[in-house]
Amino acid sequence: MAAFRFKKKCEKCGAFLLITETDDYAPGCKEREEAWCPRCGNEVDSSMTSGFLKAFEITEQEFNKKNDF
Ligand SMILES: [Zn+2]
Repeated sequence: MAAFRFKKKCEKCGAFLLITETDDYAPGCKEREEAWCPRCGNEVDSSMTSGFLKAFEITEQEFNKKNDF
């Protein structure tokens, strides 16, 4: 199963984050999932998904890299 991921900067504390959305959950069970900044607890993203959203802190260098991961 493919996981979807993207980068985002926390608006509150400025942490560089990698948001991952996994879809390894029961299909047909879409709910609003939120991702929380691991540093300050701010809600950094949310979406309707049947999986889980998770935010990881990454370095500024990783954040600015063009060719991801
Ligand atoms: Zn934050």
